[in-house]
Amino acid sequence: MTTDTAPLVELDDVSKYYGNIRALEGVSLEVRAGEITCVLGDNGAGKSTLIKIVAGLHRHDAGTFRIEGEEVALANPRDALDRGIATVYQDLAVVPLMPVWRNFFLGSEPTKGKGPLRRLDVDLMRATTREALLRMGIDLRDVDQPIGTLSGGERQCVAIARAVHFGARVLVLDEPTAALGVKQSGVVLKYVAAARDQGLGVVLITHNPHHAYLVGDRFVLLKRGTMAASHTKGEVTLDELTRQMAGGSELDDLRHELERPAAS
Ligand code: ADP
Repeated sequence: MTTDTAPLVELDDVSKYYGNIRALEGVSLEVRAGEITCVLGDNGAGKSTLIKIVAGLHRHDAGTFRIEGEEVALANPRDALDRGIATVYQDLAVVPLMPVWRNFFLGSEPTKGKGPLRRLDVDLMRATTREALLRMGIDLRDVDQPIGTLSGGERQCVAIARAVHFGARVLVLDEPTAALGVKQSGVVLKYVAAARDQGLGVVLITHNPHHAYLVGDRFVLLKRGTMAASHTKGEVTLDELTRQMAGGSELDDLRHELERPAAS
């Protein structure tokens, strides 16, 4: 699995403080082309803070952040995007009443004609959206329907296809399955795997070890801002990952405390 080339993204001993609150401390991870790195953790574990660093919203306070081997301190989200890092947030920024194709090109609309005759190239946007979705295996009935009529899972899939189409090399997904049922989660994970198969490096943020284990190559477990565990797939079983995520030894202590004395 490991190769000689530098990872697309590498965090080495990275920390971030908000005043005297420790949001992240000493976290390391790597994201490689054609691999999925899962970041697991409960609320308050530091997952959002980690995303914000990788997405260029916040600077880290300590440690090293490298993109393809080069140390960086990203200035802003545009900087991250220019370096090929696309982030898909859970609350997708879409315009619900606009068609799927319009949302697909939001902010990057192609035009045709010159001067006063310049106008949006609607046909091109429609056709390109349809093709980009099909290339990811997404067969949407109609790209003219308002994006608000799609299910949450379908909207995530469109956002993933959009990032791939616009040339992302690293895809950061913020809990893409959190609000979804089992079936829709499965569909989204399928497209996460499709992005990986196209050679992207994926960061999958989740609190669901089952979802992580289905697609992940690497697993980083965060707890209260620190890195509680880091595994590659071959090093850990689903049971072990679930146990670590659920609290492991803390759960054993709790079980012990809750145990009722046997009825006499
Ligand atoms: P998660 O996304 O895993 O729920 P966060 O990254 O949001 O975790 O939070 C990690 C810790 O940092 C929490 O204790 C949280 O209260 C704190 N935190 C996050 N953002 C801020 C902020 N802007 N100011 C102060 N503390 C923050």
